[in-house]
Amino acid sequence: MYRGKPFSNLTNYHSHSSFCDGKAPAEDFIKEAIRQGFYSYGVSGHAPLPYHTHWSMDMEDTQAYIDEILFLKEKYKNEIEIYLGMEIDYLTRDHNPSSSFFRNLPLDYVIGSVHLLEDADDKNKDIDVKPEQFCALVDNSFGSDIRSVVEMYFTKLKTMIDAGGFDFIGHCDKISLNASAYNPAILSESWYRDLVSGFFHYISDAGCMIEINSKAYARAGMFFPNIENFTLIKQLSIPVVVNSDAHYPADVNAGRFEVLAALLDNGIKEVMELRRGEWISTPIKSM
Ligand SMILES: [Zn+2]
Ligand SMILES: [Zn+2]
Repeated sequence: MYRGKPFSNLTNYHSHSSFCDGKAPAEDFIKEAIRQGFYSYGVSGHAPLPYHTHWSMDMEDTQAYIDEILFLKEKYKNEIEIYLGMEIDYLTRDHNPSSSFFRNLPLDYVIGSVHLLEDADDKNKDIDVKPEQFCALVDNSFGSDIRSVVEMYFTKLKTMIDAGGFDFIGHCDKISLNASAYNPAILSESWYRDLVSGFFHYISDAGCMIEINSKAYARAGMFFPNIENFTLIKQLSIPVVVNSDAHYPADVNAGRFEVLAALLDNGIKEVMELRRGEWISTPIKSM
């Protein structure tokens, strides 16, 4: 439970719904956002993959998803700015945020994320799973080589950055949570720190925006990217957007105020917010 001062930056652009692995219809998230006084909100369903999963929307539901969010955007236009987004995986050269299929959708914005890595047999493995499943996966599909899994993850993100087609990078070091379940010391190992530091320089050189994702804060006390990187993010002037990655309507603001307070503590005084369709750098302000 957040006990600090509330902030007036009431926005969230990472939110799921029953079209993917969210646990309620998109309208329930929007109603909760309005109830909490939000002025700008984006729904970002997991984009369809070329095959069925339990967590992404199916290709044939894409139009229904778009129609539903556009309908809600219009329905609530006098109460809140609603944005139609998608969280698109970088899967392959042919299926990623820069693919023409996605570029031709009428999306207001795109989150570029990596949740899948290819094993030695070129099979896609979901690494955004529970820690015990992740550890078994590293042992069974990646030869117990956690370092190469982590390196593959950041390499794939860099490939995504090169390809473009997204507005900001989703939870850009999320593998840190599962990797530290496999090896509790990993985040302080010099190769890991060098890798992550190089990655943030890569982001900065490419001029990308990132999110600070608060989804795991209540459960694991971690943000993605981790708070240890905030000083570097500040030094590199990487623009940030603060999102809760809500899968339940009650979580539209979960962990966001903790992130905003931590950003201020580290000298980052502005966040990016969508206003009238444009990303605007906005001061972090107490209510
Ligand atoms: Zn994600
Ligand atoms: Zn998500």
